Amino acid sequence: MTTNGTLQADSLSPSPFTYYRGRVGLYALLKALGIGPGDEVATQAFTCVAVPEGIMAAGARPVFVDLEPGGLNLSPDDLRRKLTPRTKAIVVQHTFGIPARIDLVMSISSERSLPVLEDCCHTHHATFHGQRLGTFGAGSFCSYEWGKPVVLGVGGSIEVNDPELRHRIDEQYRKFSAPPPARAIKVAIQKIVFDALLSPRTYWMLKDGFRRLSRAGMVEGNYHPMGEGKISDDFRWRMLPALERNYRREFTQRVSAFTSHSRWISAAYSAGLHSGAAQIPLVPAGAEPVYARYPLLVADKARLVSRAREQGIEVSDWYSTPVHPLVESEWPLVHYEAGSCPEAEIRVGQIVSLPTYGRVTLKHVEKLMTVVNE
Ligand SMILES: *Cc1c(COP(=O)(O)O)cnc(C)c1O
Repeated sequence: MTTNGTLQADSLSPSPFTYYRGRVGLYALLKALGIGPGDEVATQAFTCVAVPEGIMAAGARPVFVDLEPGGLNLSPDDLRRKLTPRTKAIVVQHTFGIPARIDLVMSISSERSLPVLEDCCHTHHATFHGQRLGTFGAGSFCSYEWGKPVVLGVGGSIEVNDPELRHRIDEQYRKFSAPPPARAIKVAIQKIVFDALLSPRTYWMLKDGFRRLSRAGMVEGNYHPMGEGKISDDFRWRMLPALERNYRREFTQRVSAFTSHSRWISAAYSAGLHSGAAQIPLVPAGAEPVYARYPLLVADKARLVSRAREQGIEVSDWYSTPVHPLVESEWPLVHYEAGSCPEAEIRVGQIVSLPTYGRVTLKHVEKLMTVVNE
């Protein structure tokens, strides 16, 4: 990391603005920007349903931008094509901790005087030309649910860089209240189970269990199907108080711990990868990723994932649709039009990702690379 990058990254501290989820932070930013019905917000395909949900909760319409060839982040060329007179903001996602072409996005946005919001749900420490992600746009948002670099249970936070926007967020924050205590109990139990069990060896068991319980409404899942004009209670709430206390106490230290572990494990994956077995997605020049998960593009995704499941070792298949986890018949719910982002539709068939969190050891890396290199 450059000297500048270290300085920027080390200045990372807990945000005063925390929310029930990451998508609620996005919603808060959009509302504070005055965005609502009749407006469009550009965001990339190859994302999680949380993003269009946040946009639609504000009353606006998501417009999906395609990926760069070979990459997992938005194509600045396609962004230009998708802007209309109704576009009021650009959401730029730094997928898996790989910095997007934020320089080009910022110059497109300034030509059009559009605010940029950075989706930093996969990254706290990655930099672009030495500057920490999350500090380029008017604001940024993060998430603390399962699979993110810092797991609290559920939760989100925002950083606000634009002083005027910060003033409006300050005013608006009073309108968000604490979630009901029943939520806290549910999330606390989930957290205890995950903390006790989660490792690359228990991934499949937990994933299957979580999915079943989530369908039964017994755990906090991450998908709330919503119709137009409806808004879930989640969008009125701050972070759960118990989680917020952990966040204040542990955030800075846990980001540093994740960053160094992820760098070490990612280097081991990279060293263990046989050429030709898989491809590493595009990383733009000047970008220093910190991988939330180590992404690989493979020729036979279904076979690799089922091999990993047989071997009982963690390989994730997300995103498996352009707006994860929505299946094609659900795409119209979030205004995603089939065929509108061909690169994203190709990438969902190629992507797998390997874990980089604290419990991943070199033994797991070895086992995983054996499966990948086959
Ligand atoms: C997890 C995630 C979010 C937000 O998730 P919440 O469940 O709302 O906390 C947003 N964007 C991306 C890319 C994510 O992976």
